Amino acid sequence: MIDFEIPAETAALRDQIRAFVNDKIVPYETDPRLTRHGPTEEMRTEMVELAREAGLLTFQAPARFGGREPSHVDQAVLFEAAGWSTLGPVALNCAAPDEGNMFLLGKIANEQQVEEFLVPVIEGRQRSVFAMTEPDGAGSDPNQLKTEAVFDGSDYVINGRKWLITGANGARTWIIMARVAPNEHGPDGPTLFLCDGDTPGIEIERVMNTMDRNYVEGHGVVVFNDLRLPASAVLGEVGQALRYAQLRLAPARLTHCMRWLGAASRAQAIAIEHARTRTGFGKPLAEHQGVGFMIADNEIALQQCRLAIWWACWTLDSGAKGRHESSMVKAMVSEELFKVADRCVQILGGMGISDETPVAMIFSDMRAFRLYDGPTEVHKYAISRQVLRNPR
Ligand SMILES: Cc1cc2nc3c(=O)[nH]c(=O)nc-3n(C[C@H](O)[C@H](O)[C@H](O)COP(=O)(O)OP(=O)(O)OC[C@H]3O[C@@H](n4cnc5c(N)ncnc54)[C@H](O)[C@@H]3O)c2cc1C
Repeated sequence: MIDFEIPAETAALRDQIRAFVNDKIVPYETDPRLTRHGPTEEMRTEMVELAREAGLLTFQAPARFGGREPSHVDQAVLFEAAGWSTLGPVALNCAAPDEGNMFLLGKIANEQQVEEFLVPVIEGRQRSVFAMTEPDGAGSDPNQLKTEAVFDGSDYVINGRKWLITGANGARTWIIMARVAPNEHGPDGPTLFLCDGDTPGIEIERVMNTMDRNYVEGHGVVVFNDLRLPASAVLGEVGQALRYAQLRLAPARLTHCMRWLGAASRAQAIAIEHARTRTGFGKPLAEHQGVGFMIADNEIALQQCRLAIWWACWTLDSGAKGRHESSMVKAMVSEELFKVADRCVQILGGMGISDETPVAMIFSDMRAFRLYDGPTEVHKYAISRQVLRNPR
């Protein structure tokens, strides 16, 4: 009944992606243009052009946009291959936040919005942002949303402050979450707006210094200062932002899991090679039981994570929303892969915390994964509420 065989076509594409990332993108990991605030736009464009030449750019896009439209299960296989380098998804245009944004826009944008804001992102010509989190408002609890959109006759005027907005600097496709204030003309409540990043009223206050360095242009603090948008800038329907965010979140959580599984597998490969070749106390490190156990624990965790991701993807492919399933998998995978990366650092000894290998970068980048798209505790809070409401 359950078949774990990977279809030949998917396996072939996986091998192509893996070879591309290994041969063409891994060398960029030591490029000085990989800065504290992520790859520069110049470096991103260069990598994207390589993926375009290889015929692999935005492979996950729907067929109507020239992509290969893989199922969720197929994506699990392909995104893992892309994640072999933390820069692989950036090159292939399947990194966050663009990948989740493309998914959302493909579902709810109208034809005009698709042409203006989605197609250029799919083609790798411009980047996108999803601006929800606020220093004193929306975070784990989006109901605390403070950014306000006031309807003044034909336009909305938006004011508020956001932070941790990935890629804000230089992005052109902006999805902004704001609360439409009660008005006599129509509905109110949390709403998504879609606009160009060059619109007056969007001000990048600064880019935050963070532990991770693989998201293009890092994470920005953004102020909306009387940002005036026409009613046509509403994405979907007024008052439906939280529902749309959920639509984006279930698959986006899983693609994070897939990419980080690829990165953790790379860390494990590097740790294994080190354990086989470095000696201590008269034999290779790998022959010490303490090291062998760490390698085995990693292998067990990697395979558990892979199977769990495939299962949640299968629920999405069968038409379910997968909210509960993706929540369980994201909580488990983010915790387990972080432990894998930590054990890899340990096996490498002092070299593990240096830039002599990419393991230190994988470790520090992966730390944030336990926070975004729902911190572990928030997923556990939701899971326990669901289980308590509907005991088996
Ligand atoms: C690398 C990175 C990139 C990001 N990119 C974006 C982006 O592009 N756009 C965007 O809008 N946001 C982005 N975020 C923000 C991210 O979505 C938030 O950090 C996340 O939702 C948590 O919100 P918060 O940081 O406000 O933490 P808070 O909501 O203040 O929570 C802090 C901690 O409190 C605990 N907690 C909260 N609620 C509960 C609960 N119900 N039960 C138990 N414990 C709880 C958890 O331990 C949690 O970690 C990004 C974050 C990171 C780290």
